[in-house]
Amino acid sequence: MEVYQGKASFKGVAIGRIAEMKKASTVVRRMHVDDVDAEFQRYLAAKEQAQAEIMELHDKALKEVGEAQAEIFEVHAMFLDDFDDSVENIIREQSVNAEYAVATTGDNTAAMLAAMDDNPYMQARTTDVKDVADRVIRDMNGGSGDGNVFTEPVLLISDDLAPSETVQLDKSKVLAFVTRGGSTNSHTAILARTMNIPALCQVPIPKEADGKMGIVDGFTGSIYVDPDADILEKYQQMAEEEAEKQRLLIQLKGKDTVTKSGKAIKLYANIGGIGDLNFVLENDAAGIGLFRSEFLYLQSEDYPTEEEQFKAYRTVAEMMAGKEVVIRTLDIGADKQIDYFNLEKEENPALGFRAIRICLTNEEIFKTQLRALYRASAYGNICIMLPMITSVWEVEKAKSIMEEVKDDLRIHKVPFKDVPIGVMIETPAAVLIADDLAELVDFFSIGTNDLTQYTLAIDRQNQKLERFFNAHHPAVLKAIQMTIDAGHRHNTWVGICGELGADPTLTETFVRMGIDELSMSPSSILPVRKIIRDMD
Ligand code: PEP
Ligand code: MG
Repeated sequence: MEVYQGKASFKGVAIGRIAEMKKASTVVRRMHVDDVDAEFQRYLAAKEQAQAEIMELHDKALKEVGEAQAEIFEVHAMFLDDFDDSVENIIREQSVNAEYAVATTGDNTAAMLAAMDDNPYMQARTTDVKDVADRVIRDMNGGSGDGNVFTEPVLLISDDLAPSETVQLDKSKVLAFVTRGGSTNSHTAILARTMNIPALCQVPIPKEADGKMGIVDGFTGSIYVDPDADILEKYQQMAEEEAEKQRLLIQLKGKDTVTKSGKAIKLYANIGGIGDLNFVLENDAAGIGLFRSEFLYLQSEDYPTEEEQFKAYRTVAEMMAGKEVVIRTLDIGADKQIDYFNLEKEENPALGFRAIRICLTNEEIFKTQLRALYRASAYGNICIMLPMITSVWEVEKAKSIMEEVKDDLRIHKVPFKDVPIGVMIETPAAVLIADDLAELVDFFSIGTNDLTQYTLAIDRQNQKLERFFNAHHPAVLKAIQMTIDAGHRHNTWVGICGELGADPTLTETFVRMGIDELSMSPSSILPVRKIIRDMD
């Protein structure tokens, strides 16, 4: 048994097989190499590995689905055998890297097959040949072929996980997230909270753990590899106790979130997309306090169309059946990067071109989203929320663009509602001008993740700074109180949708400060409801 220690980003216990996350093959670049012999050897080694994987797939298919299906892998092996001459020639003649030589060979072979009009079978094999080329390229980069399709739920291990990677995972097959890098404030931690599974970061676990049995302890931040029988027994018991606690909390479903003295709090859920709605309903959220709409963009290969967005927003509005659904407009940039936006690399991305700044610069992107939001508003109780606000003019400008969108919908007789507008309070500037902002909007939602980052000048992604990071810093708590007071002076309701909103040690403090709404990962709702119901 080996034990590796890291930091716990979300609590819980998970027991299962460890699986290393396979990184998707990256874009292949053409690079000059001096040692062409070594480069060709690198190709040959990867080819050998790819051949073994293909044979394994062949045998598995033979056992599970029969000979006819298994044959395709014989064709893959044949394609791979034919790669050698072309790959060697490209590497030696052009002094280029093996990845480029393999990708070019794959593309050329695919083009040749596509032209075989007299042989429809081979013509249909262009995807297979590209699949083979991708496999070899992945193997050259340390991957092992078959992506992240797991047959059983696993403890997922990775160097780090970008939001664009987590969105592609089959979440029903993930029992826990363990990353070698990352921080407790990262989006992986947020996702773990939504899924109610343990997550660890900064764990120095070696790649060799892949495939072994493991236990993730999200209370202490440790992972056990090949656990001894007594440890396994202890954790099995702990997992059962956790499940029992969960069963007790379920009794709070359907109950109001109100203190004994009668102060009611809106307890809402944070979501990244339609896929999270079942967690919302399961945990009895009274509404959605933050729909991170950028996840729709992260899931797409290109800008999602108005129609695609409309369908997603409409589904959420309909599923929530008249309950409030706060949808945040696109908050891209900084830690949430998307290739097709072609954003320039910045020295200081957290202080850079992001969120509302992108929307007010590229108005067409913003208008497409707003049209989708207003169209969906006819199907439920949608509220629109603007992220990363620092100035009054940004809200005024965004509202004037909304008016243009509404005028256009009116002209075309498209039904919509005049929805409430809110802003996120995520910057010290927004806190300091909260009185002015409150005159323009219907609600505030405090984004404590970014508000803490900007108030303390601590990059939320930088793991080296964690000891300086204090989520309970008096400056942050004071900023929250100032925001609540300013909102209430102008009849503007105030909520918290950052991770701090789910912190059970602060629930009482927030209620006493006068908070109206707390929005959090669905798994935190029932525990926080319990605290509020127990309060005087
Ligand atoms: C926040 O900053 O607190 C927030 C809710 O937004 P995100 O975590 O998506 O940046
Ligand atoms: Mg934020």
